[in-house]
Amino acid sequence: MSATPVDEIAQIHATLRTTFRKGVTRPLAWRRHQLLQLALMMQENVDAFADSLEADLGKPRMEAIATEVGVIYERATICAQNLEEWTKPQAVEVPEWQQSWSPTVHKGAKGTILIISPWNYPLILTLQPLYGAISAGCCAVIKASEVAPNYATLLARLLPQYLDQSAYRVVLGAVPEITKLLELQWDHIFYTGNGRVARIIAAAAAKHLTPLTLELGGKSPVIVDGTFDISLAAKRILWGKINNAGQICVAPDYVVVLRDQQDELIAGLKSAYESFYPNGALNSTSYGRIVSDTHFERLKGQLKRTRGEVAFGGQTNEKRWFEPTIVKDVAGDDPLLEEEIFGPILPVVPVDSVEDAIEFITSRDHPLVLYVFTEDPKTKASIIDRTMSGNLVFNDTVQQLAVNTLPFGGVGESGYGRQILKYSFESFTYDRSCVDIPRAAEPTLEIRYPPYTDKNLAI
Ligand code: NAD
Repeated sequence: MSATPVDEIAQIHATLRTTFRKGVTRPLAWRRHQLLQLALMMQENVDAFADSLEADLGKPRMEAIATEVGVIYERATICAQNLEEWTKPQAVEVPEWQQSWSPTVHKGAKGTILIISPWNYPLILTLQPLYGAISAGCCAVIKASEVAPNYATLLARLLPQYLDQSAYRVVLGAVPEITKLLELQWDHIFYTGNGRVARIIAAAAAKHLTPLTLELGGKSPVIVDGTFDISLAAKRILWGKINNAGQICVAPDYVVVLRDQQDELIAGLKSAYESFYPNGALNSTSYGRIVSDTHFERLKGQLKRTRGEVAFGGQTNEKRWFEPTIVKDVAGDDPLLEEEIFGPILPVVPVDSVEDAIEFITSRDHPLVLYVFTEDPKTKASIIDRTMSGNLVFNDTVQQLAVNTLPFGGVGESGYGRQILKYSFESFTYDRSCVDIPRAAEPTLEIRYPPYTDKNLAI
């Protein structure tokens, strides 16, 4: 992957800002055309995109299409269909004497957007904010992750063939290129990645008072209280963990289970594993690999340091395949519970009660997702009331992402801001209040003018 020359970056930025200022990106017909071109780019290049994701992550073709290429095709098309509705000025309710002022809220385009994305779902995490920016009437630069270079290079080659280059550009590179990008003034920065880099981005944005969306990760827990079929819970948990070999921000990070049900849960996980991978995950075409040597070594190190017991899994091979690995009897202060795992290791933490499970989770950072397997309405109610997370899912994992109309995003350490369809559009617009006060309203306004007398206070 050859990086974008640093001295071209300011020019790209200037071109986009000029395009925005001239109003090119605002007409709805223009936005609709760009969105349909984005959908067309997905449709005409399914194989090229799937191949690039295979080359970067060993991502199975079925996962690449179902969780990335197909989703962008569908959502760009939905945006094109909904533009009219989303951009309609909204009238607000006012008292009778203000009704002639036509008070409305307009969805103003913010301007020129910087999108910085990670490597794990490199396609959807670059193009989901992009369809939001197009829908909003904004320009955008995408900085794709250097850790998924095949995808990044392909995107840089294809995007200009489909979208208006004066409004949408890809910048390739790593820290030097980002550093240059962050010196410039953007109207919104949409960052997806880890909390450490998020702090660098937020500090740079603060210099220009640039608003931010931070889509971060962290440790998304699962609670299993035993009232929901444990073997089905195990199957659903394992499925959430094997997508992209656990390299997914919404992967179940660890499971908290009642102590006397731990063995049944592990047996369920093992039987699910055997049904998904009858010849072992390392011999399966339905399983991806770890993205880089650094992450592979990091995961091996995590497994070495745990004081829990490996219940099954743990095998790796020289091509960076890492078997789904379940670790049982993990204590609260185990190294596996410090950092986000972001790979196929699943620690299981036994506790004595649902109350202890809630206490365990609420004493840690607010997660991106909280998964809870329970049929007990009281447990559901107390989870809703007493815990915090960006997303809350009862009785499944990862499937929440299929609901197009729910907002997605974190809280606290898992980030802030929301995305997906209308929420992506909202990220890049601002609510612009507008009134138009007619001449005929003058009699109702007379009361405000000096000289002030008691008449000004008459209501
Ligand atoms: P990454 O290493 O690809 O980094 C993300 C972006 O930050 C890249 O474009 C990279 O060039 C840039 N970057 C890296 N180091 C930098 C630095 N020092 N200064 C400025 N920019 C820098 O990806 P990652 O951060 O390893 O991604 C994984 C993390 O992202 C996980 O924590 C995961 O949970 C999170 N994630 C969150 C979501 C979400 O939607 N909430 C989605 C996917 C991933």
